[in-house]
Amino acid sequence: MVGKVASWLVYGFRTFILRQEVPYLFGMVITDKCNLNCFYCESKNSGRYHFSFEQAKKTIQEAYARGHRSLYFTGGEPMVWEDDGHNLEELVRFARDIGFLEVFIFTNGTRPLSIANSNYIVTIDGPKDIHDKIRGNSYDVILRNVRNAVTKKVFASITFSRANAQHLRRFVEEVSDTKLFKGISFNLLTHWPEIVQTHGVSLEERKRLLDDIWRLKSEGYPIVLSRAAYKALRNNDWKRPIPQIELGTKDRIFQCCRDIDNPSVCAQCGYANCVEVSQMLSLKPSALWQVLRMVGTA
Ligand code: SF4
Repeated sequence: MVGKVASWLVYGFRTFILRQEVPYLFGMVITDKCNLNCFYCESKNSGRYHFSFEQAKKTIQEAYARGHRSLYFTGGEPMVWEDDGHNLEELVRFARDIGFLEVFIFTNGTRPLSIANSNYIVTIDGPKDIHDKIRGNSYDVILRNVRNAVTKKVFASITFSRANAQHLRRFVEEVSDTKLFKGISFNLLTHWPEIVQTHGVSLEERKRLLDDIWRLKSEGYPIVLSRAAYKALRNNDWKRPIPQIELGTKDRIFQCCRDIDNPSVCAQCGYANCVEVSQMLSLKPSALWQVLRMVGTA
């Protein structure tokens, strides 16, 4: 615990006093294999992304050497990753052993949440009926896995699209009622403009949606969103890309995320967690508090 606090203090000193761009958050697309088939996801099961065990360890080690102290695994579905008998639990242990302070796993929650020393971000697509329509009757399995998780550090995450945005309140109430999640985070569907036009919410609807999310937060629901990030998302005026975030595939390390080469995607970026980090790095007190609270649960 002392080492963790010291490490965050050093990070804070270099970032906020010396104004250095110290890497903060490293993501790994550990595989694009997935056991679900969500309509809005175009990156699943392409066979393009799959780390070997040795590649993965080397990439984690190099990210640590560049300064990263928070790590997340994404996919595809990270919990299905394996290589020659090695599994994700070994990579989490490896990352922790070399000094990563936080490890997050983005998962669809259909596999047991059995890896200790990590935080889970479980994707849910709406209240049960809507989720099951989009993700094929997996809601009850997910809740069972969350209930039996080896850790209490589990967050729910929803990607808002045209298919679920109108069910926001019901979703938040239903998920909160389970008392299984530490918090609820969200993204606004971020994709090619033509995909967002077909499946996403319009800019005006987006503002209304953000206002509704903020209202729910004000009512006391555990939504992961600071005032600074809410405003930045609503005004779409936050500074991007974020140099302190990187995302690694087996072939390339991207600054911020895989869409860095697509300005039209970045222009309407709805990755709320990235906005939160951008606001924290801009020293917005509410974002600093929000991130500390999230990390503090780790
Ligand atoms: S879409 Fe652009 S701004 Fe958003 S996270 Fe990706 S690279 Fe960063």
